[in-house]
Amino acid sequence: MSARAGVVYLVGAGPGDPGLMTARSLELIASADAIFYDRLIPPGALDGARSEAELVYVGKQPGVPSVPQEEIGERLIEAAREGKSVVRLKGGDPFVFGRGGEEGEALREAGVDFEVVPGVTAGVAATAYAGIPVTHRDDASAVAFVTGHEDPEKQESALDWEALARFPGTLVFYMGVKRLGENAAALIDSGRDPQEPAAAIERGTWPGQRTVTATLGTIADAVAREQVKAPALIVVGEVARRREELEWLERRPLHGRRVVVTRARAQASGFAATLRGLGAEVVELPAIRIESRIESDEVRALAGALGVYELVCLTSPNGVRLLFEAMESAGVDARALAGVTVAAIGPGTARALAERGVLADVVPERFVAEGLIEALEDHEVNGARVLVARAAEARDVLPEALRERGAEVDVVALYETVREQPGDDEVEGAQRADYITFTSSSTVTNLTEALGDRFPADARIVSIGPITSETARAAGLTVDVEAERHDIDGLLEALLDDVRQSA
Ligand code: SAH
Repeated sequence: MSARAGVVYLVGAGPGDPGLMTARSLELIASADAIFYDRLIPPGALDGARSEAELVYVGKQPGVPSVPQEEIGERLIEAAREGKSVVRLKGGDPFVFGRGGEEGEALREAGVDFEVVPGVTAGVAATAYAGIPVTHRDDASAVAFVTGHEDPEKQESALDWEALARFPGTLVFYMGVKRLGENAAALIDSGRDPQEPAAAIERGTWPGQRTVTATLGTIADAVAREQVKAPALIVVGEVARRREELEWLERRPLHGRRVVVTRARAQASGFAATLRGLGAEVVELPAIRIESRIESDEVRALAGALGVYELVCLTSPNGVRLLFEAMESAGVDARALAGVTVAAIGPGTARALAERGVLADVVPERFVAEGLIEALEDHEVNGARVLVARAAEARDVLPEALRERGAEVDVVALYETVREQPGDDEVEGAQRADYITFTSSSTVTNLTEALGDRFPADARIVSIGPITSETARAAGLTVDVEAERHDIDGLLEALLDDVRQSA
């Protein structure tokens, strides 16, 4: 069920890995009118929000003035009273050290309806990603979530250190880095064994996750030495030793490596997913983007009068999608193509047509313009009116070949592919990259032009093959690795080899 007007949803976004967001949280984000979000939400968590949705950052950052808690409550109430559906998005779980309880109380007092959507809390997620089970049949029959840093305004500590020292199970401290020395000492003074295994997990479930293990007696020094920073959890318990057997994430071949992928977003996603599966942090720098041209008078007029053509040629799935959007604006549907011969350049285009109820009459064996020309050889086009609907910058071989055979050809541009200027976050991510992958000469040109003098000097450059490498060298780059097999798998193999060698 989508977000309802006048309701505030206190939603947990999980610990950082976007894959750990609940189905319910995504559904609410996709339908909310307003989203008030914290700092520690997963990357891309708001990508699914409606473009009209109001996105308000209310996060707290150590040492930086932030929106006071009471004001957050007031703003939630105000937005709900304006009849908006409101999502209050928090890291982890809203009711585990998330102040969700206070916000719920303020809403109840104001008579505003609310719903709570639990999230995966860091205490179970970061530990699991570090290979530490918080309970174990042999080691721990109980687990306690403890705050390591209480409200500084509180006069007395609410923590009963003696009870915690006696606690028969695992202790998981949230917000525990700053006071780790004092807290560990308090536990030991109250009788907990200094030899007990302990671990600190920094940025659990995020690409840069890092785990430091020690004992209760030595963990504070280890954390200081390794410069572990917030957000981090401290685990105290026998279970921390299980990591030796159960560690999985930090063992992946590309764990801790930041890799830049430069392709159009639709193509990049498969490669990016493979890299992520191997543990890499992927920065996607989409080189090009599709810009619709269906608002033009030309496309409008044409979309309403497709019946005048004997043959309509479509050269990409994007073209199909946009043609149908233009048809919809013109108030016609697939029946406008009844009696028209429809040619698709390849199976992807044919599939896009089939999804819209049109089976292509012609699909060539080779998926380029020349292939389509061959496939149309059996069709009489002399004197026929033909429409070629495509990208603005496409080659002219198809319309020319059809004209030579006597067809009266109209060419219409449904879209343009334009260079995508990466956003600040993407540029910043790319600047700290360990690897930059180039899959074609155009990705080299686009990326070097987009980054300019911000191109990361230290990143290793991996090229798919000699032509791409040549372009990279011409652009002043040093190619560190060139794939032996000139496809995506070959590129990946070359990258993994390089990582192995540098290890
Ligand atoms: N509501 C959140 C906790 C908020 S308190 C939840 O349920 O997870 C913030 C503290 O949570 C941080 O100081 C840190 O101790 C812990 N934390 C949150 N995300 C974390 C992560 N990805 N890795 C390790 N600790 C994390």
